[in-house]
Amino acid sequence: MTTSRPIRARIFRAALLHNYRLARRLAPTAKAWAVIKANAYGHGQWRAVETLREEADGFAVLECENAVALREAGIIQPILLLEGIFSARDARAVAEFGLTTVVHCLEQLALLLDSVTPGAPLAICLKLNTGMNRLGLGAADLRQAREILARIPNVELTLMTHFAEADGERGVAEQLARFSEMASDWQGPVSLANSAAILRHPQTHGDWVRPGIMLYGSSPFADQSAEELGLQPVMALESEIIGIQQLVPGDRVGYGGTFVAERPMRIGVVACGYADGYPRHAPSGTPIAVMGKMTQTVGRVSMDMLACDLTDIPEAGLGAPVTLWGNGRAGCVPADIVAAAAGTIAYELFCALAPRVPVAVDDE
Ligand SMILES: *Cc1c(COP(=O)(O)O)cnc(C)c1O
Repeated sequence: MTTSRPIRARIFRAALLHNYRLARRLAPTAKAWAVIKANAYGHGQWRAVETLREEADGFAVLECENAVALREAGIIQPILLLEGIFSARDARAVAEFGLTTVVHCLEQLALLLDSVTPGAPLAICLKLNTGMNRLGLGAADLRQAREILARIPNVELTLMTHFAEADGERGVAEQLARFSEMASDWQGPVSLANSAAILRHPQTHGDWVRPGIMLYGSSPFADQSAEELGLQPVMALESEIIGIQQLVPGDRVGYGGTFVAERPMRIGVVACGYADGYPRHAPSGTPIAVMGKMTQTVGRVSMDMLACDLTDIPEAGLGAPVTLWGNGRAGCVPADIVAAAAGTIAYELFCALAPRVPVAVDDE
């Protein structure tokens, strides 16, 4: 749906391609599953698939229905189900459509093997719990799973794990050591690295890497910017100034009157609120760009609007372009900075982009 309300999300396909190529370059001996779960982190699953279909070694999704839809759209690369199957129906689809499925516990393995024709070719990623304690097999269950699978023909096996702190100070050392110990007799393919590990921990690259957030141009690190990492923002959230207010000292802005002017100020009202996906917790002072200049939000974000300081941007009147995040026509505002101001991460901002925001694709 296009609307005359001026808010837009723009998706830069060239940036997505650039970021995928960077992941491949950083892990030159590995193949890369482009992680497109959660509607490609809010960027649009099909936009991501269309952009990467010639180059991606594989795609990683969450729902079996999405994987099947990719196959039906002619995607021939490996497609990974990141949490594996949830039902016998999923299991049958894995066999029928040649999907690669995670198996993270013995019950899931039993469901898979009980649901498919014995001997049907299966591509399985056995997921090991190496310390995150979310999904994954422990050492004893891993041994049992491998014994079961060793008795079955036509199984193509990969061992995988997921890092809890590849972006943090503790890094990957403990989990990597645990993985090596659990897989000490394993010569086959392994898949370990998310974006943070691809960027910072080359010893984890293995045979298949799983870039997610870096594809969309955000940094997985609190201490290193996307730009420093050579990533390009894929989404720009843009709007316009739809109202102007002149304040005298003591005037307040927005719900709760949390912002009080200490000097005469000129305030711009932007057509973007939390119902568009802008974080309500972004405080006064969150960076925002208007007509090529950086300024700051003022007052609480409301459902459909937010306010910003135009005192030093007198040329910005009604209709002036605004960039909320990304590399937009009013300037570049890293989503990571907006997210940090709101106490969250860009992953969440992107995923929360509201369906009511029209999306325009940039094809250059
Ligand atoms: C989401 C996900 C990824 C991608 O993580 P990023 O931090 O976005 O790179 C990789 N592996 C698994 C298992 C995931 O669920």
